[in-house]
Amino acid sequence: MLKKEYCGLFGISGHAEAARMTYFGLYAMQHRGQESAGIVTWDGQKLREQRGMGLVADVFREEHLSRQLKGTVGMGHIRYSTTGASLLRNAQPFMVRYKDMGLAVAHNGNLVNTVELRRELENNGSLFQTSMDSEIVMHLVAQTLSDSSLEEAMSTACRRLKGAYSLLFMANNKLIGLRDPWGFRPLCLGRVGDAYVLASETCAFDLLEAEYLRDIEPGEMVVIENGRLHSYRFCEPERTSPCIFELIYFARPDSIVFGKNVYESRKAMGRTLAREAPVDADFVMPFPDSGVYAAVGYAQESGLPYEMAMIRNHYVGRTFIQPSQDMRDFGVRVKLNPVKSMINGKRIVIVEDSVVRGTTIRTRVKKLRELGARELHLRVSCPPICHPCYYGIDFSSKGELIAANHSVEDIARYMNLDSLHYLSVDGLLDSVQAKSEYCLACFQGTYPVPPPQGGSKSCLE
Ligand code: 5GP
Ligand code: MG
Repeated sequence: MLKKEYCGLFGISGHAEAARMTYFGLYAMQHRGQESAGIVTWDGQKLREQRGMGLVADVFREEHLSRQLKGTVGMGHIRYSTTGASLLRNAQPFMVRYKDMGLAVAHNGNLVNTVELRRELENNGSLFQTSMDSEIVMHLVAQTLSDSSLEEAMSTACRRLKGAYSLLFMANNKLIGLRDPWGFRPLCLGRVGDAYVLASETCAFDLLEAEYLRDIEPGEMVVIENGRLHSYRFCEPERTSPCIFELIYFARPDSIVFGKNVYESRKAMGRTLAREAPVDADFVMPFPDSGVYAAVGYAQESGLPYEMAMIRNHYVGRTFIQPSQDMRDFGVRVKLNPVKSMINGKRIVIVEDSVVRGTTIRTRVKKLRELGARELHLRVSCPPICHPCYYGIDFSSKGELIAANHSVEDIARYMNLDSLHYLSVDGLLDSVQAKSEYCLACFQGTYPVPPPQGGSKSCLE
């Protein structure tokens, strides 16, 4: 299994209620991770922390926010994982003391050179407490911190990292945010009152009524201290390759990610899909929630009625779905249930944002057939996912990706569909008005940063 580090970051500097703001920032980004949550604040003398397993609302209580996590500078992290290894010690931010300084780091993304870096550090005497990439970053920073400034030590450390990393870092009252030179994962900068805020997605700013200023650029580091922000380029930007899957599935539709409105992008994917693969049918229906926005676009472009004939149970946590196939099938049934009276005798276009293993489609199409659907046409708002992601998306090994091992015709037959169309790569890029500056590795197998030798070796869990 690949290690999964798909997470959410939030930081704030110069606000009387830093912990509470961080709490709400994380709350708005809960979709980015449900496994664990943590907040660190600077109380004027030392760093304080609270971390725990589960949802933001379960990890923090009022006493944590009002009494324990004091201070005007803070940062937080939410972690997503589907592996069995859900450990409290892997919850972030990761915190250490160095001389008279408290240091904390939180990481979103996945590095591809962790095995080499960790081996090198261990050979030089580092002792690791966790299996997280962020601990490696901390050890690298500590190596040069005694003879250089924090900014230089961080720059030197980050230049050694390969792969995806958006990072937040605190050193006493200093808050630092940076993005890898490829810009795989998002990180944006905002302002609320006199405070600066950093977040993975702008939906966190909306909740706090913060103003979105701009994205942190690939290879850029911002250092915020005592109300002032300094920007450094710690690394020349590489060919930028932000993860297009943020726009397809992962980010909230009310966010702006990589300067793009996520909702509009998804709707445009649906419109393109309708032009690429029109079909005569009675109605268009999404598999909610993730398929909703592309389905709206498909319905508007095709002129077909839009129906919510598949209902989502919103109280199903992702953790509920266990990693065995039987449990996954059951999980899909708990999550998605059709409105029976609407299906019989109908010709239906199903719009889904992505097909990974094929579990969702296979089990729900079977159900729709039992309910008497006459024709079922699946339209997927991204190209076939044929290659694993090494930069943090939860795409399992190649063996589990249905499109890696089967042709579109085979998949349609196996899923008992009347027709199946995946959005083309060109159609996807047109929909987000891009030339080629996105990472498309999961569709095309060309990796902007070479994957680790031996494929999935980056797993240390
Ligand atoms: P499948 O059932 O084919 O394995 O997965 C596809 C479904 O999972 C789609 O409904 C899609 O919205 C959703 N999905 C896509 N990527 C991810 C991911 O990284 N994590 C989770 N939990 N769901 C995903
Ligand atoms: Mg979905």
